[in-house]
Amino acid sequence: MKTIAKQPEVKNFIDGKFVPITIGSNEHASMDVMNPIDGSIITTLPLSTYDDVDKAVKAAEKAFESWSSKTLKERVQIFFRYRTLLEENMDELTKLVQLENGKTYGEAKAEVEKSMELCEFAVSLPQIVVNEVQEVSKGVECRIERKPLGVVASITPFNFPNMVPHWTMPNALVLGNTMVMKPSEIVPLSTMRMAELLKEAGLPDGVFNLVNGGKEVVEAICDHPNIKAVSFVGSTKVAKIVYKRASSTLKRCVALGGAKNHLLVFPDANPDMTASNVVASMTGCAGQRCMAASVMVGVDKVQHIIDKMVEEAKKIIPGENLGAVISAEAKKRIENYIAEAETNGAKILLDGRNITVPGKEGGFYVGPTIIDHVTIDMSVAREEIFGPVISIIRAKNIDEAIEIENGSNYGNAAAVFTQSGGLAKEVMERASAGMIGVNIGVPVPREPFSFGGWNESKFGVGDITGRSSIEFWTQNKKTTTKWNPEAQTNWMS
Ligand code: NAD
Repeated sequence: MKTIAKQPEVKNFIDGKFVPITIGSNEHASMDVMNPIDGSIITTLPLSTYDDVDKAVKAAEKAFESWSSKTLKERVQIFFRYRTLLEENMDELTKLVQLENGKTYGEAKAEVEKSMELCEFAVSLPQIVVNEVQEVSKGVECRIERKPLGVVASITPFNFPNMVPHWTMPNALVLGNTMVMKPSEIVPLSTMRMAELLKEAGLPDGVFNLVNGGKEVVEAICDHPNIKAVSFVGSTKVAKIVYKRASSTLKRCVALGGAKNHLLVFPDANPDMTASNVVASMTGCAGQRCMAASVMVGVDKVQHIIDKMVEEAKKIIPGENLGAVISAEAKKRIENYIAEAETNGAKILLDGRNITVPGKEGGFYVGPTIIDHVTIDMSVAREEIFGPVISIIRAKNIDEAIEIENGSNYGNAAAVFTQSGGLAKEVMERASAGMIGVNIGVPVPREPFSFGGWNESKFGVGDITGRSSIEFWTQNKKTTTKWNPEAQTNWMS
């Protein structure tokens, strides 16, 4: 494999500076960061240890006093400037996401645009977080104020290198916390650039810190006694580990996990709109989205819609309007799922296995894949595939369709395609998922609506973005005051 030193070696960002990892037991431990589009190595990443996390926590603790004592209105000024920097550097940030993640230019750009929207919500927090005060008895006042927690942590996955870090960072910092972030070791470059731009926007040193690495860093974050809260986004397997470990050291934790999203398609659905929505949902970001369509439940006679979906999916060309999957292992895993379904009797209507893109032969591509006549016992019906693959399960009626959806361990999103308000309403009510789409294949709530699933797609209370995140990143201080000595003495005194 060719090594292209396109990027400098990955470093940690602690106390406003890029620093190498601590020389210790992990002195020689590093891993390659790959470009999924052509399989080349773009840089190496050191695997940090507990000592590196500890340094970052110390820097964040030092910065907390002065950062948290600024007013909300002062803190948002930095994020007005930072949002502008995202816009000014859009092309570069987009290409960085593409380089490390392999998605298309349009998909990568949409990520950065969403990050800007997340910053817009954060700068609106002074309008939303207004303290409560009331004179509860003559001369006596009760007041509730939202206070930051202290040093908080954010652990992120590979599939949205720019956007997911912005789910947590702007709100947590604007609300007065300081942060240690651990990005996915597979995509460290976007967050390094984010750290630089935050500094350029005027963020004081130590308020935002980055520690690169893998499992050891996550464990150190969960265990560190001076971290108050942990937010995690990634697979369900790791979300469970992180939720249990962070809670066992008495931290507050919200951990978002994987997904297996069901789209219920009824015969009266608009065929063109449904086919293009379902295909866009299953193939966007090469299916590596926690909001991607993974199972289509075709209710009754929907063959005409399936035929259109196959037609639509044939227009999705790897290397043109379909990006790469993240790694050679991911490609193999996805292709194994398709093979297993075929062996177990499912019908492959469109097969994305064994794809190579001319000129990018080393790239990790899987073409759009549609598997029909899947049964609920098959792994493609139950497990997260995380590739551009949809499994079609046939159902006789709405009750059967809902039973299939409700049977999933996950519950991130579900969608219904129909022209009947009654049917749509019933699915909205009965689907066991946190985010519901009606004639929308990727029902991501936009700010200020919050993002978060149900069941094994999320552990912890509240959602990760929007108003819900205000609760997570703050604690209430309740103060009762009496200024008037003549105030009547009563049971409160
Ligand atoms: P992952 O769980 O493998 O990794 C996420 C983070 O956990 C990374 O920073 C990684 O270093 C760390 N990690 C990995 N293994 C660990 C271990 N054993 N112990 C401690 N830490 C560990 O997830 P991924 O492959 O990077 O991302 C894809 C997954 O994330 C998919 O399942 C996808 O559905 C999910 N995801 C969910 C949401 C959501 O909102 N629910 C959003 C984006 C991605």
